[in-house]
Amino acid sequence: MEASMPLKPPVPEPDGFLYCFGCEQMLPVASFYFGRGRPSKPCKACKKSGGGARARLNALVNELYEEMQANRAARPARPAPIVPEYAPMGGMALWAEREEAKRRRKGR
Ligand SMILES: [Zn+2]
Repeated sequence: MEASMPLKPPVPEPDGFLYCFGCEQMLPVASFYFGRGRPSKPCKACKKSGGGARARLNALVNELYEEMQANRAARPARPAPIVPEYAPMGGMALWAEREEAKRRRKGR
């Protein structure tokens, strides 16, 4: 069961209380199910609603995202390349016009 609970509570759990990642609350142990004498997270309410799994996934995603942001900030900022006259729709319209003109010439 330990392997499936890699998250550590952000705050120390006082005696008789456990932190639930589902609802992000410190809850009395009575709010948790117990399996083999160990508390089973998330809390009863989260297990019923299914919010626990989602919240744990969200927590993991946020953690990874923050890590990514931190790594990105560490790198030197590179400005995005700016293409001065980039007008794909205008170019497309011109091309279509020319093709249409060609077709008309061939047709006659
Ligand atoms: Zn909960």
